[in-house]
Amino acid sequence: MLDLTYEAPKPKVIEGATGPWELVIGLEVHAQVASNAKLFSGASTEFGAEPNSNVAFIDAGMPGMLPVINEGCVALAVKTGLGLKAQINLTSAFDRKNYFYPDLPQGYQISQLYHPIVGEGEVLVDMEPGIARLVRIERIHLEQDAGKSIHDMDPHMSFVDLNRTGVALMEIVSRPDIRGPEEAAAYVAKLRQIMRYLGTCDGNMQNGNLRADVNVSVCRPGDYEKYMETQDFSHLGTRCEIKNMNSMRFIQQAIDYEARRQIAILEDGGSVTQETRLYDPDKGETRSMRSKEEAHDYRYFPDPDLLPLEIEQAWVDDIASHLPELPDEKKARFVTEFGLSEYDASVLTAEAENAVYFEVAAEGNDGKLTANWVINELFGRLKKDGDTPITESPVSPHQLGGIVALISKGDISGKIAKDLFEIVYTEGGDPATLVEERGMKQVTDTGAIEAAVDDVIAANPAQVEKAKANPKLAGWFVGQVMKATGGKANPKAVNQIVAAKLGL
Ligand code: ADP
Ligand code: MG
Repeated sequence: MLDLTYEAPKPKVIEGATGPWELVIGLEVHAQVASNAKLFSGASTEFGAEPNSNVAFIDAGMPGMLPVINEGCVALAVKTGLGLKAQINLTSAFDRKNYFYPDLPQGYQISQLYHPIVGEGEVLVDMEPGIARLVRIERIHLEQDAGKSIHDMDPHMSFVDLNRTGVALMEIVSRPDIRGPEEAAAYVAKLRQIMRYLGTCDGNMQNGNLRADVNVSVCRPGDYEKYMETQDFSHLGTRCEIKNMNSMRFIQQAIDYEARRQIAILEDGGSVTQETRLYDPDKGETRSMRSKEEAHDYRYFPDPDLLPLEIEQAWVDDIASHLPELPDEKKARFVTEFGLSEYDASVLTAEAENAVYFEVAAEGNDGKLTANWVINELFGRLKKDGDTPITESPVSPHQLGGIVALISKGDISGKIAKDLFEIVYTEGGDPATLVEERGMKQVTDTGAIEAAVDDVIAANPAQVEKAKANPKLAGWFVGQVMKATGGKANPKAVNQIVAAKLGL
């Protein structure tokens, strides 16, 4: 499907006292569905609302309330599945996962254990140009989020905010195909990118709209290959799960710490206990939260209030026919259509908005030159301007395209183009008109350039003698002419004329 060819990255190896160890990582990513209403109620999902203001009776676990599935959430889960090239299950079902927690008023979470809505899929995780790993997706299921307990507002009491209770989450479960901390972060970044392209999750990690449970184990070189051949987990080490990570940096730190902790235990002759751990970013360590519970601990059973979820293939096909172009395809197209390097194509497709901007700016222009201007000048300037988002760029893609066109036509030099860019950025205006009005046009008229060269030669007889003996010194004359013409002379023409006049 992709024209780009990839080489798999090497697994991260940690040298222990008894030899090398490799990391094996599987992620359960919880992505909040980009829906205005909750999964089974009409309450709003707005972030930062007054505590307990977005709570329907059913979210509060009031007796006699019945869940009603939000079709929009189902559609977004299907869309996500399609974006991950996954199997869409036309029949899925909701189960109750029973446990007590103050922020879970129902006393159970509605989830999908036995029949998830999305089955196996795949994600290509880019590490660097030409290097990517395929991470298999095991499943995606829909489930309810819990509320939030607040323990630090009062010395004697705890509070609970149920606004988040019942918000739709997609739990995206990967196979243990991730082989290092950087790869884990790159995997989350790729999922985030795909979902943002699809518009199914806003990917805001700070608000907790995207968070991951990170499963880590260690094994000896060769063991993972045996697992891949047989899909037999006994070839892998015992895993620990680090809960609720919502920072790329902490994910990496936690994996590294956890792998080294497990290696120390194993090299000491001990064995790793399967458990759930928490990462403490202040201490830089993981610590035990609870022993790992199994599905049967939760007494899962099919939710009697909800019929199995049946969707039609025609509906799925309709969603599929409206999928946007996804990052990998866009990147491949940018490489072939605009002749960009894979690196530039990655940068420009990192966010859908960047890609849209570039394509508008590149219309009728040289792709590579446009890419340089977007990546180097525009991104640099936006960053300097307090990280202004590209959607609020003072220079529109049409204006940037106009500047690029003027360079290509030879109307302005690259140096003048930078000045022009700054004028457009701060004052606005049409680039071509500005060039005319402010006399920024490059002098390509050879007569005028010749005159300028003659002046410089006449004024510097000693330099002329030196340059005749050492042609490298011709550059000095070019510099003088550029200065004399206010940088507007066409550098190529100046070079040629200087060389000719000096008889080089
Ligand atoms: P649970 O809900 O019990 O954590 P899941 O099946 O939802 O179980 O998720 C298990 C996760 O752990 C998956 O992402 C899987 O790839 C990963 N995993 C399983 N075995 C290992 C292992 N040996 N090392 C690392 N990750 C593992
Ligand atoms: Mg888990």
